[in-house]
Amino acid sequence: MYSTKNISKIDAHIHLIPDDVIQANRDFDGKFIVNGSVKEYMSMMKMYSIEKAFIMPFNDPYMLSMSFTVEAVHDNLLKIASQYPGVLYCFADIDINKDIHETLQEFDRIFTYESFIGIKLHPTNTGYPIDGSYNEKIFEYAQANHIPIEIHSYPRESVKDDVCSPVRIKKMVEKYPKVRVSIAHMGGFQFNELIGTDVYVNISAILTDLVNRYGLIKTNEIIRAYGIDKVIFASDYPDNRVLSPNDIYDKYFEILDKMDFDRDEIEKICRDNALTLFGSKMKK
Ligand SMILES: [Zn+2]
Repeated sequence: MYSTKNISKIDAHIHLIPDDVIQANRDFDGKFIVNGSVKEYMSMMKMYSIEKAFIMPFNDPYMLSMSFTVEAVHDNLLKIASQYPGVLYCFADIDINKDIHETLQEFDRIFTYESFIGIKLHPTNTGYPIDGSYNEKIFEYAQANHIPIEIHSYPRESVKDDVCSPVRIKKMVEKYPKVRVSIAHMGGFQFNELIGTDVYVNISAILTDLVNRYGLIKTNEIIRAYGIDKVIFASDYPDNRVLSPNDIYDKYFEILDKMDFDRDEIEKICRDNALTLFGSKMKK
């Protein structure tokens, strides 16, 4: 028997916050932003056997820099990730208000760095649909440059055409079949729409929500329905709708330990699938 806590893992979706942003928000935000300190996270990694973690931006420059530009966000992410080469990696951000050519030029600048391994699209934060023409240009760029895309998908439950809904995502996947896509949060409670689609999904934020609503056995079945080769472990640390930051990993591993995965399967979910999708720039 294994315990998920002790298996070497990759957390494919976390948030870390630059120290000056934490400082500036200390009095306003009691929970999320002030918990994303890099130093604290490094000790979490050790405690929970996490060998690598991928830092996600928010498509909102106010979250990750004090000068509120996407370039400053990238510089901050790079500063954090390059302090821990081979351990922390990060994703490119976008500012939807910028001209698309500037956005693509900024991609050209940052993808020369080994720390940047993918592009994050967050339709809910931008209020702009994943299948809009701005994002088509980004998919074209990703296809031409072999860069994977991570898409936030936790749509309002009954809104099938929400900006981040699986229905819209599937349209893009069909239009750009060569782009490798990971869906964060499994499409929320519209997860059924994604089963059978050629995408990876990660269990950040949604795992605990699924278990709370459907119970452990049904959640286990949902993960299996996607396919063991397609599901990626991720936590969304330090952000979770129900759990406080310090409880996230314990709860996640408690749930995964109770599921029916054998050791090979849990290693795929917790590490190998993330390397298959995002590992092309990493040293073996
Ligand atoms: Zn997130």
